[in-house]
Amino acid sequence: MEIDSERQKRMLGAIVSTVVAHVTELTDLDRAIGDGDHGVNLQRGVKAIAQQLDEFAALPLGQALHDVGKRLVMTVGGASGPLYGTLFMVLGKHLADTELSRDSIVAACEAAVAAVKARGKSDVGQKTLLDVLVPVELELRTGSGDMLERLPETARSAATATIGMVAKRGRAAFLRERSVGHMDPGARSSQLMIAAVCESLQRGAESSS
Ligand code: ADP
Ligand code: MG
Repeated sequence: MEIDSERQKRMLGAIVSTVVAHVTELTDLDRAIGDGDHGVNLQRGVKAIAQQLDEFAALPLGQALHDVGKRLVMTVGGASGPLYGTLFMVLGKHLADTELSRDSIVAACEAAVAAVKARGKSDVGQKTLLDVLVPVELELRTGSGDMLERLPETARSAATATIGMVAKRGRAAFLRERSVGHMDPGARSSQLMIAAVCESLQRGAESSS
């Protein structure tokens, strides 16, 4: 798959739009098991991205993702800012000079997820965004079929599965068992971004065929 600047702009724009469209929902989820700022935090980040969308679209993909990550670190704040920032920066670093193939995307995602784990001192099963990122990375690495169709489904069921988990990291961990019954806000925002990226790439594939 080739990511030209048009596609790159659509992909980044899709991330911006989905966060903006779900700010209230993300904030409500965070109000239930955190401090109620996840939507607002992420919105601050994506608004900064939106302001420079044309500049980011004009950069090579790896550089663009890396710079987006840096903006997120600078603007989002909270626990999620450094985690999302790390995710994008490491993706960018690994997609810098390689031909964009399934293998190179898988390798970049593996590295990015490992970096988020290290940054958050966290792992799958702790009711965080990793409970969406890890299954999606696994599906991408081992699954077959149309990934643009499958990954949003994987992300959706993975985010839903966080409802039944006990939080072990972040503010929600203070609630222990009382965190059960609510979807993790970071898992939901990750799901939304993955769905938005896949959908934007699908639209791109349709319009170019
Ligand atoms: P804060 O918790 O500082 O208010 P946000 O509300 O923006 O930050 O983000 C909360 C989300 O960040 C959680 O829902 C969870 O998914 C994620 N998170 C928090 N701490 C960690 C961690 N140590 N590892 C992985 N993800 C984490
Ligand atoms: Mg919060």
